[in-house]
Amino acid sequence: MGRFAPSPTGPLHAGSLLAALGSLLHARAQGGVWHLRIDDIDPPRAVQGSVAAIQASLEAHALRFDGDIQYQSDHSYRYEQALQRLEAQGDLFHCTCTRAMLGAAGSCQKSCAQKQFAASEATCLRVKVPLSTVITLDDAFLGPQNWLLGQQLSNFVVRRRDGLYAYQLAAAVDDAAPAATQVIRGRDLLDSTPRQIFLQRRLGLPSPEYGHLPVLTDQHGAKLSKQQGASAVNNHQPLHNLRTALKELGQPDPPAKLKDSVSLLAWSQSKWDPLRVPR
Ligand code: GLU
Repeated sequence: MGRFAPSPTGPLHAGSLLAALGSLLHARAQGGVWHLRIDDIDPPRAVQGSVAAIQASLEAHALRFDGDIQYQSDHSYRYEQALQRLEAQGDLFHCTCTRAMLGAAGSCQKSCAQKQFAASEATCLRVKVPLSTVITLDDAFLGPQNWLLGQQLSNFVVRRRDGLYAYQLAAAVDDAAPAATQVIRGRDLLDSTPRQIFLQRRLGLPSPEYGHLPVLTDQHGAKLSKQQGASAVNNHQPLHNLRTALKELGQPDPPAKLKDSVSLLAWSQSKWDPLRVPR
């Protein structure tokens, strides 16, 4: 079971189309279903109309998801339960450090873990990462990955100071198998994966298969991103966009006689080869 999980921060751009296509083909090639999840846990960053725009682009490219759209904003009870379990295990602490006070990997290096804060004080919640934590993964495209996570960071945020659930927590909970069995997404999120696997372990949740796809960059080498205003995919040229994305995924060129997105996708699904995805 695969999923595509855009944040509602703008329309679909070429980079997110690549993630949508790669995750769809990887799921469908194995006979799996493919879901659309809207990661709408950060209202201040949400852009009105993005869900409709994302849906319209997926539809224009015949990237059809199964079932209803899932919204992370409907899953607060899950995230709350997860926090309660971490709290009961003694994994959490409150922190008031500002960005400038944090270490290189964003960890709290002060003594917040030993402090008592008044209930009225705005704090974020951090999960402690034991020094000996090692996370290994056989990435569907990149092969074996190994992180000495406990040496890289000693803690990270699971609930923000503004009270919102952190992406790491929400993704770890929603992506735990059996709800998702495959998480195929851009390589820009590779750093997040060991944190999410760590959380799944602490929560006693099974981890899905992970695979990280190439990330598209603009002419300055910066990742295409909705927040940076990357331009929306042109819904009037789906064949061209799909062919370009397939090339970027290292997949074979569909025959020229295929003139509609549905048959192009069916052909590409039958030829999908994870080993051809550029590393
Ligand atoms: N919603 C996040 C994004 O759009 C992450 C998605 C994911 O984990 O695949 O960048």
